[in-house]
Amino acid sequence: MNKLFTLNNMLLFFISMSFLPVTIAIEAAARTCDAQRVNLQVLGSGGPELDDGRNSSGYIIWVDGNSKLIVDAGPGTSVAFGAAGGKFEHVSALLLTHLHVDHSSDLPAYIKGSFFTPRQNVLIVAGPTQNALMPSTSDYVQRLMGPKGAFAYLKDYVDKTTDADYKINVVDIDKSDSNKTGYENQLNIDAEITASAVTVHHGPVAAVAWKIQVLGCTLVFSGDMSNNKKVLATFAKGADLLIANNAVPETAGEVAKNLHMTPSEIGEIANSAQVRKLLLSHFMQRTLPTQQLSLKHIRARYSGPVEFAEDGMTIRLNR
Ligand SMILES: [Zn+2]
Repeated sequence: MNKLFTLNNMLLFFISMSFLPVTIAIEAAARTCDAQRVNLQVLGSGGPELDDGRNSSGYIIWVDGNSKLIVDAGPGTSVAFGAAGGKFEHVSALLLTHLHVDHSSDLPAYIKGSFFTPRQNVLIVAGPTQNALMPSTSDYVQRLMGPKGAFAYLKDYVDKTTDADYKINVVDIDKSDSNKTGYENQLNIDAEITASAVTVHHGPVAAVAWKIQVLGCTLVFSGDMSNNKKVLATFAKGADLLIANNAVPETAGEVAKNLHMTPSEIGEIANSAQVRKLLLSHFMQRTLPTQQLSLKHIRARYSGPVEFAEDGMTIRLNR
């Protein structure tokens, strides 16, 4: 009996010894960002204002020189996408943080423009589900490009029954109820890319933050949000890059703070999540002149590298 017990223990010991290093090796490999192969380009670093000299919100994630992912589609960003050398036939997914105009209104411009590309593969379009104020992302796509949409002439891209060079597959990200706050919805975009979303608080507007994991690199987009749900620090844990929207100054009033994070909140989140780099974006007239002041509030809480987004800028993920 004793012998058997010892034998079993030894067997267990050898099994765990043989598996343990493998597990550690896999985890270590998964955490190492292949920064030579992945980077972020800013297509738009502004908000909804007409006179800020910037495009509204939009980004490309480049993988091995291919424009694989678009995050947000604010006004001006579809043109900037082409100017940046993006190829729409290489885009696996277009992810929307929410359906405010300055984050989403270039979607039909991308789809119309794609007619002149050789695109043939399915395009994933994903964004938040509906709430009392906003439509779901699938409803948004239908209202724009469905058979009764404003741009019904693009309906073949969304209507499964007709012929088109490619189809749009729309994914609505579940609204997490109070029990599910912090729940991460995961989408496998392709063999290399996983996108996860968590519901965030953006005043009365349905909104999500996105986390992209590709070749060991993690990029997190806050989108527009207040920190009322307090989910971003956990969601962004250990990210190589956090793109945080700096739409309001530290002195923002209650209405603005119900929609957006203050700089000190951004600093607290970046520190608590221990992100490796912070990119501030989505500037407005009220935050452009106060960038250095915002930086001071962030610096008091977060000691890692901080950059200010400019349209067209490429952000490398190595430190
Ligand atoms: Zn917004």
